[in-house]
Amino acid sequence: SQESRAALVTGGTSGIGLAIARRLQGDGLKVAVLDLDRPQAREVAQERGLTFVGADLSRRADCRRAVDETVSALGGLDVLVNNAGFQHIDPIPDFPEDTWDTMLHVMLTAPFLLSKYAWGHLTRSGQGRIVNVASIHGHVASPYKSAYISAKHGVIGFTRTAALEAGEQGLTVNAICPGYVRTPLVEGQIADQARTRGLSPEEVEQKVMLEPAAIKRLLEPEDIAALASYVVSPAAWGMTGAVLDLDLGWTAR
Ligand code: NAD
Repeated sequence: SQESRAALVTGGTSGIGLAIARRLQGDGLKVAVLDLDRPQAREVAQERGLTFVGADLSRRADCRRAVDETVSALGGLDVLVNNAGFQHIDPIPDFPEDTWDTMLHVMLTAPFLLSKYAWGHLTRSGQGRIVNVASIHGHVASPYKSAYISAKHGVIGFTRTAALEAGEQGLTVNAICPGYVRTPLVEGQIADQARTRGLSPEEVEQKVMLEPAAIKRLLEPEDIAALASYVVSPAAWGMTGAVLDLDLGWTAR
């Protein structure tokens, strides 16, 4: 049943990941959150009754250990939400090569490794789910975000491939592509742009960030969590390999 399923959400102590973890917990799943091992991340998890798994997704060995730890703590693994990510902005000639490597590892290689290591558990579940949090930047580009956009395009390809391999085994694999969501990551970008462009934060939000959007209002993390909740639910058994846009109409033009 829905109640006895176990979920692991990466990047689950902040922003979209935390909202998804709490929503799945509310839906009755047992939930572990994976994040960089910091006191504040542990506290966020503890306060909400979420199992904390400390791991750095830029390291292969941590990915392996994280799956093992989750399975021992929750007694299995039915749902994997690959959500952890971060942004770095620089033109290509200046883009730090180590940052490129880390970003590709955290946002593309780690979803592959966690899926690989968890595959046996997810396929045995009968209602297994992999949900990859990609981005509109999995479809379209913006300048100066080369590593982020490459990783997000890549994770959509991985989603479709994994869906084909998993279909016979009752495991679905889907991607969610949000537009701008009000999270610490985006609040930081608004503040930076307000400083560099000499605008108010409200003006940056409306005139810069939401300029290409049909609906001029930032998404909230709970909006993404509601879609993840549906994808994870037993009702969504027939949806796989889907790339689900929740983007305020951004990619409609
Ligand atoms: P956030 O910064 O609030 O949360 C990201 C989490 O990932 C953090 O808890 C961070 O510690 C964790 N993380 C980063 N590097 C890690 C590593 N090496 N190992 C383990 N954990 C690591 O960001 P968010 O806005 O909630 O973003 C979550 C996901 O949604 C990301 O993949 C992001 O690309 C995607 N996304 C965000 C937006 C948006 O507007 N905020 C839009 C589209 C897609």
